[in-house]
Amino acid sequence: MAADVVLKNVNKVYPNGFHAVYDFNIDIQKGEFIVLCGPSGCGKSTTLRMIAGLEEISSGDLIINGKKVNNVAPKDRDIAMVFQNYALYAHMTVYHNMAFSLTIRKVDPVEIHARVMKAAEVLGLVPYLNRKPKQLSGGQRQRVALGRAIVRDPVVFLLDEPLSNLDAKLRGSMRKELMQLHERLNATFVYVTHDQIEALTLATRIVVMKDGYVQQIATPKEMFDNPENLFVGGFIGTPPMNFLHGMIDNSGIKFIQDGSGIEFELTEHQQEIIGNYIGKNVIMAVRPEFVFIDNANLEKNSKNAFDFKIDYTEYLGAYHLLYGYIGDEALISKVYTRQEITDTEIKACVDMEHVHFFDVETTKRIR
Ligand code: ATP
Repeated sequence: MAADVVLKNVNKVYPNGFHAVYDFNIDIQKGEFIVLCGPSGCGKSTTLRMIAGLEEISSGDLIINGKKVNNVAPKDRDIAMVFQNYALYAHMTVYHNMAFSLTIRKVDPVEIHARVMKAAEVLGLVPYLNRKPKQLSGGQRQRVALGRAIVRDPVVFLLDEPLSNLDAKLRGSMRKELMQLHERLNATFVYVTHDQIEALTLATRIVVMKDGYVQQIATPKEMFDNPENLFVGGFIGTPPMNFLHGMIDNSGIKFIQDGSGIEFELTEHQQEIIGNYIGKNVIMAVRPEFVFIDNANLEKNSKNAFDFKIDYTEYLGAYHLLYGYIGDEALISKVYTRQEITDTEIKACVDMEHVHFFDVETTKRIR
């Protein structure tokens, strides 16, 4: 399948000399839902704005639909952008907000009407076409902003934190709508968010960025299961991964936690890949989902059990989060039980099949 959007060694240096994006490379296939994700200031909006043509590219190539567009004006790029603040025209009705960009492009009025009505149907906006934006809820306004993009029928939809002005519940339902919309339109989406839940739920592939550098590009599952480095492990997933400091013992079979001396037995696969680290410090990482306290798992993982000192627990309906310590390092466990947990010290274990080791210096996953 042909790539729709290609970024080749794209860099952004702002006029004040600040290097905001370093060597960004990606081939985005037609129909993908790419989510650019990372903490504030990581360069995700800058990247999106370069694709949109709202920021100049300092070096590298941007190709949309087979055509290099570095110097093509935004309006000629076959993209449509949806912003966080909706940017609707307050004095225009929903209908005219959606029709506006086509009107200024002098599209035939019959065609404009057909496209606006089709978009309104797709988005459930037909009953609101004569209202002004201030007569709409936040979710409805966001749908109008999407409608304005849809009528353009672009090759690529660019969305910058489109849900961040909505309350949590509405964000949840808009996520579902966005997913369905993406399927229906079969178009390419590039979406910016700092919210890793949006990234995991919406993306066909996630790009995690930090300080202007791409950290990893992968499917949500791959990103969650096999984070490339400590940053990605800590960023994707809530609560974040647990990181334990320690060393691989001289036989290369065990990880021994610093301070506590608590031992964990490596799986065969881990023993195979850990060769260069025997006798050296590493970081052992385990997601809260794989720290267990139930009898079946304690039996199965009896060699990797330890005393878990619990500071406090959070009850979240279907599961509990247990916050505490293993030795003197913080540990979180996500436990799928509805039973109240009152213990302050409890036997816990980890499933070593779901443990990763990271290099202390490079912070990369050992593989
Ligand atoms: P946020 O989630 O806060 O919007 P972001 O990841 O989208 O963050 P960008 O807006 O891409 O971040 O900004 C990346 C970096 O570039 C930031 O450190 C920002 O301060 C800097 N930056 C943005 N615009 C300019 C500019 N016009 N001149 C200089 N530096 C800028």
